Amino acid sequence: MNQTLAIIKPDAVSAGLIGKILSHLEDSGFIVEDIKMIHMDPHQAGKFYEIHKEQPFYDSLIKFMTSGPVVPISLKSNNAVSKLRQIIGATDPDEADEGTIRKLYAESKERNAIHASDSNSNATIEIAFFFPG
Ligand code: GDP
Repeated sequence: MNQTLAIIKPDAVSAGLIGKILSHLEDSGFIVEDIKMIHMDPHQAGKFYEIHKEQPFYDSLIKFMTSGPVVPISLKSNNAVSKLRQIIGATDPDEADEGTIRKLYAESKERNAIHASDSNSNATIEIAFFFPG
């Protein structure tokens, strides 16, 4: 068993999709280890997405991620990182496989319902970011 971090993004929270997405995660075999709702400020969101600082979509991404509350979730399962990436689908919902969370619920490439850590090392960093200690 290992860990990964998901974040239900503001588009999905405001659309009332927390329950459906949590069910999808649990039905896929993930165990919820920790969960909370927070409204990030631009400093927090900027730090979380620091790796994308030079991207043309960075300012828009920070505006989106601070537009409303998000739900970070620490998850546990076998092969947690790769399994979560698989079930959320491609960044752009138009390119995501049928049945994935982004195909089912995302609005656009930016407003794409859910974040998932992309490596074990980033999972550790991202879990500590939202759930210190
Ligand atoms: P992820 O790992 O699939 O979430 O994708 P990335 O790490 O590449 O990007 C982080 C987030 O930035 C994505 O989940 C989107 O919300 C947003 N994003 C990525 N690419 C684009 C883009 O080309 N345009 C816009 N507007 N947003 C993007």
